[in-house]
Amino acid sequence: MHFYHGDIVFSKNKKELEIHENSYLAVESGKVFGIYESIPKQYEGAPVTDHGRALIIPPFSDLHVHGGQYAERGTGMDLILSDWLSTYTFPEEAKFSDAEYADRIYKAFVDDMIKNGTFHASFYTTIHGDTAGHLIKFMEDAKMHGFVGKVNMDMNSPDYLTEDTEESLKETEAFLEKHIGGERVKPILTPRFAPTCSRELLYGLGRLAKKYSVGMQTHLVESIWEKAEAVRLFDDCSCDAEIYEKAGLLDNGPSILGHFIFPGEDDIRIAKKYNAITVHCPDATNNIIAGIMPAKMLSDRDIKITLGSDVGAGHGVAVYKQVARAVQLSKLKAFYEPENNGTLTFAEAFYMATKEGGEVFGNLGSFEKGKDFEAIVIDGVEDEGLPLSPANRLERFCYCGDDRNIIARYIAMDHF
Ligand SMILES: [Zn+2]
Repeated sequence: MHFYHGDIVFSKNKKELEIHENSYLAVESGKVFGIYESIPKQYEGAPVTDHGRALIIPPFSDLHVHGGQYAERGTGMDLILSDWLSTYTFPEEAKFSDAEYADRIYKAFVDDMIKNGTFHASFYTTIHGDTAGHLIKFMEDAKMHGFVGKVNMDMNSPDYLTEDTEESLKETEAFLEKHIGGERVKPILTPRFAPTCSRELLYGLGRLAKKYSVGMQTHLVESIWEKAEAVRLFDDCSCDAEIYEKAGLLDNGPSILGHFIFPGEDDIRIAKKYNAITVHCPDATNNIIAGIMPAKMLSDRDIKITLGSDVGAGHGVAVYKQVARAVQLSKLKAFYEPENNGTLTFAEAFYMATKEGGEVFGNLGSFEKGKDFEAIVIDGVEDEGLPLSPANRLERFCYCGDDRNIIARYIAMDHF
């Protein structure tokens, strides 16, 4: 048994934080055993890592992020999506055929995630399956949990990133075969989005989904253009989500739907039917993608919502910043469209970033008894002589903090 002492905070449920001030979190065989106000008699003498009154919280999960866009984050942010893609993103992603370049970027990205307390991520890479495999290796080395997808795109893309359909499917199958047995990091099918994928490609990926029992991530109802273009190209479908349903891509899970900003009733119905995980990416919404996810409305309708940095449309790795931004954007949404939208509480947004997100990757995301133990420790957000409650300190960290406030990181603690 090993004890961690501090102010322990995690999501009790979607609406409430659970807070244990000045308490001891017990870990046995890598799992949370319990939380105590003092060390129980029978465990006296057990080792204690004492963090004083610092916050001990679960790490963050990033459900939508582009490994091939790390080097361009914070550049071209004054462009609209289509210009940003053609000017910055597509030329950058093309560089990932070069293993030496890809390794440099992917390694730096993983290091930055760990530094910022993100221990779980669902990554898009680029069309290059070989170098996508290198990202898996870096994540496994860092003991992260994750999904990594080789991107598929065989139309409406620049020549240098347009795949031959058969080749794309072959390379995807090779990628699945090579990585399906991964311990913590698994492959996931990653068609970029319907406008850049032919019917043959999506249905071929659907066959691979069935054969290897793997999930899928894509961009769904991301913009008004994308939503309309998807059903124009797939005219047997009444909505964007139905395209993936018909292709058999939602059957195995996880089905991770990025952005989900403009869902119609049919998209919501299908997302619910397949227990899909939607991803709110607040910074990306501000920077590049016009529109705000109706997060409060979807949450109230029991659609699963997680958070994503969406680097590089999002400019920073820190998921805790997305917690703050999700609350801010819900206020704007409710102000401009009050008929359907309320505002998110801080506790609701924190839940998306930790418990809801963590459970996509395993037995993770909170400190309930039996969860795999992982944590980060937060300190230094109070002003001298002006104490705050643990809940207020957590909120201030998400709004005002940075990686310097993360004073300890516990990942893969199965040796305790
Ligand atoms: Zn994206």
